[in-house]
Amino acid sequence: MTAPIQIERVKKSRLSTVDFSNLGFGTYISDHMVVADYKNGEWQEPKIVPFGEMLMSPAMLALHYGQSIFEGMKAFKNKNGQISIFRPQRHHQRMNKSLERMCMPSVSEEMFITSLSSLVELDEPWIPTAEGSSLYIRPFVFATESRLGVKISDEYRFVILTCPVAPYFTKPVRVKVEEEYVRAAEGGTGYAKCAGNYGGAFYPTMLAQKQGFDQVLWTDAKEHKYIDESGAMNVMFVLNGKLVTPGLLTSLLDGVTRNSILALTQSLGIEKEERKVSIAELEEGFKNGTLTEAFGVGTAAVVSPIAAISIHGRVYELPAVTPTSFQLRAKKKLNDIRMGHEPDVHGWNHYIK
Ligand SMILES: *Cc1c(COP(=O)(O)O)cnc(C)c1O
Repeated sequence: MTAPIQIERVKKSRLSTVDFSNLGFGTYISDHMVVADYKNGEWQEPKIVPFGEMLMSPAMLALHYGQSIFEGMKAFKNKNGQISIFRPQRHHQRMNKSLERMCMPSVSEEMFITSLSSLVELDEPWIPTAEGSSLYIRPFVFATESRLGVKISDEYRFVILTCPVAPYFTKPVRVKVEEEYVRAAEGGTGYAKCAGNYGGAFYPTMLAQKQGFDQVLWTDAKEHKYIDESGAMNVMFVLNGKLVTPGLLTSLLDGVTRNSILALTQSLGIEKEERKVSIAELEEGFKNGTLTEAFGVGTAAVVSPIAAISIHGRVYELPAVTPTSFQLRAKKKLNDIRMGHEPDVHGWNHYIK
């Protein structure tokens, strides 16, 4: 892509309809979107067009055979008016891993970063500036070939939407260790951010919610003995004073937030361990008081404290989160780096302006 991206602007912005004091998460979608089609074996030039409905065939393959993947990341505007996107290259790499797993064509880094940056720059007024708020960015790719026979699609569409989001304060959640249902097995699609992983997770999560829990903690598909991750977040524990998180397997997602927090452990003065985490070990940690924190980590909430964990039907409570808890210090440090309050020594902020 050499020429600047072609832009068709909205006739009238919807920005004045946005209540910035009550954004929620995903309520408002910004004025424009990126759209690019894949056909004849290559990606066509991406365009920026007004956000709106698109025509699609009811026979398009994504609907029938599930070739559909997405990403989720954030852009920030700091006090000096600079705009940065958090670790877009890493999100791009992960998107290509998801695409590969689902037999879908990869997107070049140039196409990804250039179209994304142009979109965020164009919809700059949509980026909220209140501390902790951000512009959530949702790139996704789905199969568009119209055909009912089972096959790998020959046509795809790449779209990027954005939406202004408020800080995502989650009250401490109660989670259930899932020992019956499975989100992903090793060798399956767990490491891909594909739509089907979510579809399959809804039912067990709904059952857990009927039992009074907010989320499930997924365990390995073979033995239900080891923790994988939680809902749409990776999970971390402070056990014996160390930060412990399940090591990466093909059954869980390589979260950018997980990776970032692990990279900050040294400066936060804590040792880290990436390894198998057994349910038995968590139970032991509850009983002898060495399990002091449990929390989910992901782009939307950054850190989501866990208040209680149900193991084999018995509910164990975690100590209350305090300002000196590791999870709050990690969340603050990550936010400070993103907002430019702290030097970005890892080069995570991709400044577009
Ligand atoms: C997106 C996602 C995460 C979190 O990844 P981040 O890159 O930190 O946002 C964790 N688990 C699943 C299943 C996810 O889809």
